[in-house]
Amino acid sequence: MRIIFATGNKNKVRECHEILSDVADEIVSMKEAGLNPDIVEDGNTFEENAMIKAETVHDLAPDAIVIADDSGLCVDALNGEPGIYSARYLGEDTSYDIKNAKIIERLEGVPKEKRTARFVCAMAVVMPDGSSFTKRGVMEGYIGDHAEGENGFGYDPIFFVEPQNCSTAVLSPDEKNAISHRGQAMRAMREELVKRI
Ligand code: IMP
Repeated sequence: MRIIFATGNKNKVRECHEILSDVADEIVSMKEAGLNPDIVEDGNTFEENAMIKAETVHDLAPDAIVIADDSGLCVDALNGEPGIYSARYLGEDTSYDIKNAKIIERLEGVPKEKRTARFVCAMAVVMPDGSSFTKRGVMEGYIGDHAEGENGFGYDPIFFVEPQNCSTAVLSPDEKNAISHRGQAMRAMREELVKRI
């Protein structure tokens, strides 16, 4: 069975490979599948946006299993911002050094117990028969008062987890994958997928 992951992100395709290599004959990105659709992510939830991507690719490659994900950071003291707009926060091309500094600035004076936040990942799957499902993974944490760590990407340097009390940019890729929103969503997606194949 061929799986297309509706993403341009090589790291996500590699993670997907690690988790599904015994399930699928072939796991490719959209680009590797020769697809470059214009996808308008205008949903109101992570699940809606993930499903929009998966359905768009399914229409172009109906014989494959299509997987897509959508993820982001939700900060309680900012009413859930940046949420589904995480990639676009302060502009798509703005560096994460600037985005992260802005979030810390907006939380100035907010005590640790009110700095709670979570990373959310929704995975959407569309099967060749058109049936579909979504799975969600969540990693709870809090926004630190500084950025730290060189691993990971995006908001990792300001997202702190307990019990380690360090940012997820300090964790190794394997340590992060074991607890991350994406790791959890991928494992839940795998469980449902093997039942349906
Ligand atoms: P997308 O799901 O690829 O659209 O990513 C959404 C955005 O959420 C990313 O660009 C990051 O800003 C943020 N994000 C999602 N997952 C993570 C993570 O594991 N670490 C840091 N930032 C993340």
